[in-house]
Amino acid sequence: MKLTEHFEKQHLSLSFEVFPPKTSSTFESVKHATEAMALLHPAFMSVTYGAGGGTSQYTLEIAKHIQEQYGVPTLAHLTCVSSTRETVRARIQELKESGIENVMALRGDLPAEMVGQDRSHWDYRHAVDLIRELKESGADFCIGGACYPEIHPESINQAEDIYYLKEKVDAGLSFLTTQMFFDNNLLYNFLYKIREAGISVPVVAGIMPITNANQVDRAIKLSGSFMPQRFKTLVDKFGSDPFAMKQAGIAYATDQIIDLYANGITNVHVYSMNKPEVAAKIQSNISDILKT
Ligand code: FAD
Repeated sequence: MKLTEHFEKQHLSLSFEVFPPKTSSTFESVKHATEAMALLHPAFMSVTYGAGGGTSQYTLEIAKHIQEQYGVPTLAHLTCVSSTRETVRARIQELKESGIENVMALRGDLPAEMVGQDRSHWDYRHAVDLIRELKESGADFCIGGACYPEIHPESINQAEDIYYLKEKVDAGLSFLTTQMFFDNNLLYNFLYKIREAGISVPVVAGIMPITNANQVDRAIKLSGSFMPQRFKTLVDKFGSDPFAMKQAGIAYATDQIIDLYANGITNVHVYSMNKPEVAAKIQSNISDILKT
């Protein structure tokens, strides 16, 4: 099923994310976690892609498995910046042949050795190049792209970031998924600005439940996200107690989701990080709300 069909619905729905194993030795445990999440019947599940190899071979395998065995629509991520045109075209062909209908088109983070390099000879410099490649492939993919309510760390300012976001949407995106954020006002502000800029595709709000204190630094480093004082206080109080921190992090994410829905946001993507119990808890916390 193409996700464009799903986005037409007006009630709250949750989707979950899994990341593939880095080695074959952990494949089975990731597969089990994935299956447990699929049994929660999310609106869709996304499977991330390890830029430059590593986990990339498993993305397709897992996405195909969830779709075929559990009937849950999948969104396979694909990155381009550290790949050759030949590799990307081969991956697109595999997606097509496997019956994957939804693709998240990403640039990917620049590997350290590529930062500061002359980009003129790269096959792909930005996500927009991949979106064009997907469109030209002849497959009728529903294509999603990433967006950043707090701007992408490499952008000079939000106006520039939104300018290039519009270029991506105009190249053929059907929807956007946001980077994680911990203050909903940042999203509301961002939505206002992108709508004003003429970007009208559905935006899926990305929520990361922080379930242990170590995740906080990693999340900030990865996303540059602003941590509201309310969240910092919670980490200070419960960070040293793993069980209490997990409960508090899930409660915080639940609270964000309820506020999003109350403000008209219907599509929420939970960065569930291969933790089915976290996805299940959030879902059960809002079970009645999900019925409205
Ligand atoms: P782009 O859209 O290319 O933007 C990157 C930067 O370049 C921005 O500053 C933008 O303003 C600028 N820019 C864009 N187009 C142009 C242009 N034409 N000219 C000049 N500047 C331009 N990474 C993975 O490796 N695997 C994943 O599975 C994965 N999934 C993700 C899912 C989501 C929802 C998000 C938010 C991120 C994900 N990432 C993933 C991380 C992502 O690859 C990085 O954030 C990366 O640095 C940027 O990717 P992008 O697709 O947003 O890039």
